[in-house]
Amino acid sequence: MRTDELTFLDDSRTQLKPIILCKDDQTPVGYISMDVSFDICSERLHLRIAATDNLVNLTAIVPVAYAVSARIVHTTLQHHRGNGSNISCRKGCNACCHYLVPITVPEAIEFKAAFLKRPPNQRVRILQSSLAASKRILSKRPPEIFATKLTSEISNYQTGLQELSDWFEGLNVTCPFLDAGECSIYQERPLACREYFVSGSNKQCVGQEGGAIVVEMPIHISEVLGRLTSELKGADIKSTILPFLPAWWEQNPNCGQQLWPASVMAERFVTIIEKMAAKRSIIPISPSCRR
Ligand code: SF4
Repeated sequence: MRTDELTFLDDSRTQLKPIILCKDDQTPVGYISMDVSFDICSERLHLRIAATDNLVNLTAIVPVAYAVSARIVHTTLQHHRGNGSNISCRKGCNACCHYLVPITVPEAIEFKAAFLKRPPNQRVRILQSSLAASKRILSKRPPEIFATKLTSEISNYQTGLQELSDWFEGLNVTCPFLDAGECSIYQERPLACREYFVSGSNKQCVGQEGGAIVVEMPIHISEVLGRLTSELKGADIKSTILPFLPAWWEQNPNCGQQLWPASVMAERFVTIIEKMAAKRSIIPISPSCRR
């Protein structure tokens, strides 16, 4: 795992961040820390997340969500590789960049800020590709689940997503962020892409030689962010998909304006991880909270 993927305490830049993933036992002055531990593939992961009381919008949780996801993904892949699986997913491969990629609300807000910083020619290209992809998607009849509300039950959520995903794959729509065969936002790519890996060769990945097997992550932090947003806003779990992002920005211009204390957001984030770990029979240890 690359250490720069972690929001470590010893990175001086993170001192300014309202929510951070701490290293070992350190908690900076002025932060409240929350611990959670659970087993991932028989390995115990200890996480300490610290937060200030500053008021923040949903994007404050995104870097920590990426760092926690990177820890879970790294441990899971190590376990699978240790058991002989060939995980061929790597930067530069685009075999799955025509799949349905849901994006959580905190990421959608964060992406808008990143999008606006891009050079005008890139912004135009992304908007044009998103528009073309959206037209294609909307010209086809979606499965029934699209018109039905997904409940917050994991089984319903996952079944619904799978049905949508299968339908979407048949549309042959490539991701608007794929540029000349490469992901143009690789460092900022959404959790759905960060948490998707397959076991098998490149040929199997594109449907030849029997097909690749999706590596099941013990916890999807994308689901955690969906639930966190739902709890904080008191609404159903919402997300959009990458081609619809520009339309989503238009329809939700004020979505990043609501604020919560960072410590409340972090505490809920940790609690949701703990509940999901418990539900999936991964042994959780009660989180502790101290200032
Ligand atoms: S965001 Fe990047 S990695 Fe994810 S589907 Fe699009 S091009 Fe592929």
